[in-house]
Amino acid sequence: MDLTLDQHLQAWLLAQEAQQLRRSCRLVPEGFINFASNDYLGLSTHPQLRPELPVGSGASRLVSGTCAVHVELEEALAQWKGTAAALTFATGYAAALGALPALAQKGDTILLDKRAHACLIDGAKLSGATIRVYPHNDLNYLEKLLAKTTGKRWIVTESVFSMDGDFAPLTEIVALKEKYGAWLLVDEAHATGLYGSQGSGRIGEAGLTERVEVQLGTMSKALGVSGGYIAGSRTLIDYLMNRARSFIYSTAPSPAVTADCVAAVKLVSGEEGTRRRALLRKHILALNALTGLSSSSPIIPIIYGREENALAAAATLQERGFWVPAIRYPTVARGKARLRVTLTAAHSAAQIEALVAALPPHEAGRKGE
Ligand SMILES: *Cc1c(COP(=O)(O)O)cnc(C)c1O
Repeated sequence: MDLTLDQHLQAWLLAQEAQQLRRSCRLVPEGFINFASNDYLGLSTHPQLRPELPVGSGASRLVSGTCAVHVELEEALAQWKGTAAALTFATGYAAALGALPALAQKGDTILLDKRAHACLIDGAKLSGATIRVYPHNDLNYLEKLLAKTTGKRWIVTESVFSMDGDFAPLTEIVALKEKYGAWLLVDEAHATGLYGSQGSGRIGEAGLTERVEVQLGTMSKALGVSGGYIAGSRTLIDYLMNRARSFIYSTAPSPAVTADCVAAVKLVSGEEGTRRRALLRKHILALNALTGLSSSSPIIPIIYGREENALAAAATLQERGFWVPAIRYPTVARGKARLRVTLTAAHSAAQIEALVAALPPHEAGRKGE
C-alpha cells in the first residue's frame, strides 16, 4: 500500500462532496431558537440539573448543532495530543465502535492483539473486515501476518493493556506497520493522563505522534469525567464526522460533562497533573517494593489462577475493608483469574501498605520468591 491513510480518506470525502453529501458540524449561533433538539420536555436546562451549561445536548451534533464547548474540548484534546484535530464521542466504547467500522471495510484486514479490549474486538467485528488475532505483543507473529496479507491492513492495539497493565512495544509496532504499509490504531484509554511530560499518553512520550494514524481514548479514566475521543489528522476527523455511525446517530456528549472534560484536560496537562503523576509513580514503586512485582502502570494484576481463589481473595479483602475486583474469564483467560489492583494519586502510602498486608497468598510476585 503506497497510499497514506489521509489520501485514502480524502478520496472518499471528495466523492461525498461531489454528491452534496459531505457533512460538517455547525455551531448553533447564540440566541437562536433551536427547533432541532429532541429535548422534548426542555429538561436539559432545568436549574436542578446544572446551572451553568445544559446537561442534555438535545440531539446528534450534525442535527441539533455543535456547542462551543464541544469544539473547545476537541481543540484542547488536539493540542494536548499534538494532533491536528480530535473528535469526541459519548464514551470510549462508542469511539471504537464508530471509528473501526468507518475506517476498515470488508476485504481489509484488522490485526488485533489477543488482549485487546472488548470495544476494539466489537468494533473490528462490526467493520466486516477479516480479523487476524496475534498473540499478545508478539512482534514476530505480527510481522508474519503482515507479510502474508495484502490490501489495507490495520494494526489495532492498546498502549497500556487494561487487565495486565503492561505496555505494547509501540516503537517496534510503528516500524513494522511502516515497513509493510499498514495503518495503526492505538487505544490510549489507560495511558492518557499518565505518561509523557504533560501526560498526553505513551504515543506522545515515545515521540510517535506523527506516525500513528489513529489515537483513541477515553475521558472516563485518568481524566475523571466521561466521554471518548479520536485524535489524528484533520482529514481523519472530517471523515469520521461523516462516517462514524456512533457519532452521527447518537446524541452529542452532555455540554456540562464536556465542560468538565475541558477543565480536566487543563488540570491533567498542567502542574496539577505533573504533581499527581509523580505521586502516583511513588505509589506504584512502593507497591512493587512491597510485593516484588515490577509494574510500570497503576494497573497491577495479582494472579490467583483458579477462579475460586481470586473470588475468595476478593471476599477476604472486602471483609477487611478493601474493594478490589476479582477478574475472571472471559475478561481474562481461564485459569488466569486475578485481583486487579489499581492505584491512584488519591491513595495514601499507609493505605497501600495495609492492602499488601491484607492480600491473601497469590501465585506471582510474593516477596522473596
Ligand atoms: C475503558 C476502556 C475503553 C472504553 O472507554 P469508556 O469511556 O469507558 O467507554 C476503551 N478501551 C480500553 C482499553 C478501556 O479500558
